[in-house]
Amino acid sequence: MSTDVRVRFAPSPTGYLHVGGARTALFNYLFAKHTGGTFVLRIEDTDRTRYVEGAVKEIFDSLRWLGLSWDEGPDVGGTSGPYVQSERLDIYKKRTQDLLDSDAAYRCFCTPQRLEEVRLAREKAKMLTGYDRHCRDLSKEEERRLLDGGAPFVVRFKVPAGRSVVFLDMIRGAIEYKTEVLDDLVILKSDGFPTYHLANVVDDHEMKISHVLRGDEWISSTPRHVLLYEAFGWTPPHFAHMPVILDPSGGKLSKRKGAASVMDYKNRGILSDALFNFLALLGWSPGGGDEREKMSRQEIINAFSLEKISPKSAVLDEKKLDWMNGLYMAESTAERLAPDVCKLWKEKGVVTVDRDETDPYLLGVIRLFKDRSKRVTEIADNAVYFFKDPDDYEPKAVQKHFKPETVLVLRELMENIGSLASFGAKQLDALYHDYAARTGISVGELVHPTRLAVSGVSFGPGLFEMMELLGKDAVMRRMDRAIETIRT
Ligand code: GLU
Repeated sequence: MSTDVRVRFAPSPTGYLHVGGARTALFNYLFAKHTGGTFVLRIEDTDRTRYVEGAVKEIFDSLRWLGLSWDEGPDVGGTSGPYVQSERLDIYKKRTQDLLDSDAAYRCFCTPQRLEEVRLAREKAKMLTGYDRHCRDLSKEEERRLLDGGAPFVVRFKVPAGRSVVFLDMIRGAIEYKTEVLDDLVILKSDGFPTYHLANVVDDHEMKISHVLRGDEWISSTPRHVLLYEAFGWTPPHFAHMPVILDPSGGKLSKRKGAASVMDYKNRGILSDALFNFLALLGWSPGGGDEREKMSRQEIINAFSLEKISPKSAVLDEKKLDWMNGLYMAESTAERLAPDVCKLWKEKGVVTVDRDETDPYLLGVIRLFKDRSKRVTEIADNAVYFFKDPDDYEPKAVQKHFKPETVLVLRELMENIGSLASFGAKQLDALYHDYAARTGISVGELVHPTRLAVSGVSFGPGLFEMMELLGKDAVMRRMDRAIETIRT
């Protein structure tokens, strides 16, 4: 199915891609995939003062890691390129000239000092701050004189007086603005670069964008854009402004409260599938009595619709993200998790850098841990004892499980283990139960000290599976060392 739906994600390279931006990208992607439309990536880099070196690459990497591939964009090309605004300056200049020619825009020669004076004066008079339209009615002669004198200028859009601008937001319904509250906005700066407003409108038109889906912090820009479309004689796209994302206490997201970058989540051990699923539910749900939360990418694409986006703010609940990530961890395979886990182990120096990710021992460790871990990092942190005998033992657990009488128990267990014909979880399980039956000591009283002896901690995967994977030698060595520790 191919449709005329064309959407775009248009980030400014001012830093990392945070969850809010990623959610915007995701909803655009989902809408394009659901409708068989086209997802365009455009880099809006005309504000050179906010440009951050490396941000474009970080945005690309983040989107790719999340699995949001674009159909047209800076590196993949397409019929509407270039897709980087700083490479489209001639287009904006020409469009600005069109507006000057049709008297919908004017050159403004006001100096920054004058603008500041105006601002202060208006503030004092309790008027709406903004430009006083001083240059809007300059005579042609005056303009010529200033131009000939080389005076720097910006180009401003002539916001029509006494009008109201109404646009239909697909999520919020009709939104109306009176033009009195709209400034004569700058569309071309004195350095020849367009402002966000002009470049955004021109590109959305030239790239044949059918629906603009963006964060609701852009709502107040939309009436200005609608007026620009009108001045150009173009039909505006459909607009949908997505609800704001709040932290669980109801405040604005900040880095401290979870507005982390996509890459931060990756580094904290969140899986791409889980973040995709989690972000999709930030402001959207399948609705119609469908309560599903865990949904595959394809299920989300199939169920996605703009009508089901709620205008209410969405809450970013990291506990829910962990819960969801845990579901995806359990469902994933050790082989798929291995590259990420091994990378962490290598960084920590737990395994040597040349250790093969397909090594059955490594895969076995991951398999033991993945169902009980909420994040990839948890596996990496909690499984270190599979590679290194414990240096010490969890103090609280020592008090509980390393008692003088434990020495005898561990010793007898070691003797029994020594005479096992085959060292496997099943045999160990039987051995421990037999021993318990024979001695009247509960299985728990055998399992806890053994676990502490072989792992150094009181929690972890099933003891017998863990012992099997560690192997007989390591288990015996560690039990022996624990006995020494208890005795000293
Ligand atoms: N460049 C804007 C941003 O950084 C895009 C806003 C829009 O989608 O129109 O979010």
